Amino acid sequence: MAAKNFDMIVIGAGPGGYVAAIRGAQLGLNVACVEREHLGGICLNWGCIPTKAMLRSAEVFHLMHRAKEFGLSVEKADFDLEAVVKRSRGVSKQMEGGIKTLFKKNKVTSIMGTAKLAGNGKVSVTTDAGVEELSAKHIVVATGARARELPGLEADGDLVWTYKTALTPPRMPKKLLVIGSGAIGIEFASFYNTLGADTTVVEVMDRVLPVEDAEISAFAKKQFVKQGMKIMEKAMVKQLDRSKGKVVAHIEVGGKVEQQEFDTVISAVGIVGNVEGLGLEEIGVKIDRTHVVTDEYCRTGIDGVYAIGDIAGAPWLAHKASHEGVMVAELAAGLKAHPIKPNTIAGCTYCHPQVASVGLTEAKAKEAGYDVKVGKFPFIGNGKAIALGEPEGFVKTVFDAKTGELLGAHMVGAEVTEMIQGYVIGRQLETTEQDLMETVFPHPTLSEMMHESVLSAFGRAIHI
Ligand code: FAD
Repeated sequence: MAAKNFDMIVIGAGPGGYVAAIRGAQLGLNVACVEREHLGGICLNWGCIPTKAMLRSAEVFHLMHRAKEFGLSVEKADFDLEAVVKRSRGVSKQMEGGIKTLFKKNKVTSIMGTAKLAGNGKVSVTTDAGVEELSAKHIVVATGARARELPGLEADGDLVWTYKTALTPPRMPKKLLVIGSGAIGIEFASFYNTLGADTTVVEVMDRVLPVEDAEISAFAKKQFVKQGMKIMEKAMVKQLDRSKGKVVAHIEVGGKVEQQEFDTVISAVGIVGNVEGLGLEEIGVKIDRTHVVTDEYCRTGIDGVYAIGDIAGAPWLAHKASHEGVMVAELAAGLKAHPIKPNTIAGCTYCHPQVASVGLTEAKAKEAGYDVKVGKFPFIGNGKAIALGEPEGFVKTVFDAKTGELLGAHMVGAEVTEMIQGYVIGRQLETTEQDLMETVFPHPTLSEMMHESVLSAFGRAIHI
């Protein structure tokens, strides 16, 4: 049987793949998108979106406990974990349905099945109905990633969970160990701790949220500890002894191994790319430590084959995947495309307090040889933050003292994940410190702190 021919075949319908498919179709390409499990990928089904739905429940629960502060009363603040999860799953389902509609609207051919590259522009797809052969000039591999499993610490779905189980928990943990304090680990720690789990976070690096600016990590840690979390830094879980209903964790810290008992462990120690079974190496695509090697245009070196999103390496973020999706679709349509500038991709963590950043930390800027000017502004100096009852946090900006370039921005506190985009646009447009200082920020908003932080770097802050 002859292969069905398309202009572009996308493998995987996560935020990388579905966006590539839609953009390609908008540009007039005949596009097929093959997905083996669920439209929307990890992001919409098991990542960004369902976690935010769960964290929203935790936030409302937290605010219920603070009702009195706002002149309100709540009889008895309580929660129903099953209902919290049901809401989160419903949100994911709604999002998945949205992708289906968008595919229809844009005339993307959506195929549910498992795809494999067969060489020379061919893709073979295994569906419930059998094996189908497709062909295209452009093939986009967007198969994403899954949780990394460390030997001895593997998830079992009962006592030791990955993010999937943590999003559909079989019970409410009483004594919870979270291994890893990157964005995923700390968001789950924040969720379960807020709902009352006695939560310990173990981080192998010297601080929580280790990719963030050191001052932001330190501030966030103080807040987590205030909320009752136990944080163990420069610590490593060496072994988990599992028995009925409990896990004894052997944790190495300060040269000694201590044993602690938990009823639940969440392992959040990173991710590995879904590179297996795709026929990548057979057609000559290079793989380095579970990620496809690409150039800045996501080209694999094999004519017409691109890799985007999590499978193409860090940062493992949905918006990076989507940007790459747009870029490869535009390349496939013969347009001039803009490669990503890694230092303009913001990272957001939706713990309580939230953390958001873009560009270089102060330490990284100094390491890179910059003479820096640093500005800081605390939430306590902002009227909107006080009115919201959110006086804890700060905004930090790092400038090149010589040129005035905004090298990095770092924030911790309420709603900072919404605010960071202001600085992202500034960096994208290569805005000077003068432009930022002359910009008028609306009042009263939390964003005024972004202005004040810039002013503070140049000795001109008004409200501190
Ligand atoms: P994915 O979303 O992983 O999609 C890949 C798709 O390919 C999957 O649907 C898979 O089924 C399919 N597939 C794989 N192999 C095949 C095959 N052979 N044939 C057909 N289909 C195949 N990022 C953020 O930016 N913000 C966040 O707040 C955030 N929160 C997260 C929270 C959690 C708990 C997790 C786990 C991740 C989070 N992420 C977040 C990361 C984000 O989910 C990923 O960066 C993003 O999903 C990557 O998109 P992708 O398109 O590369 O891959």
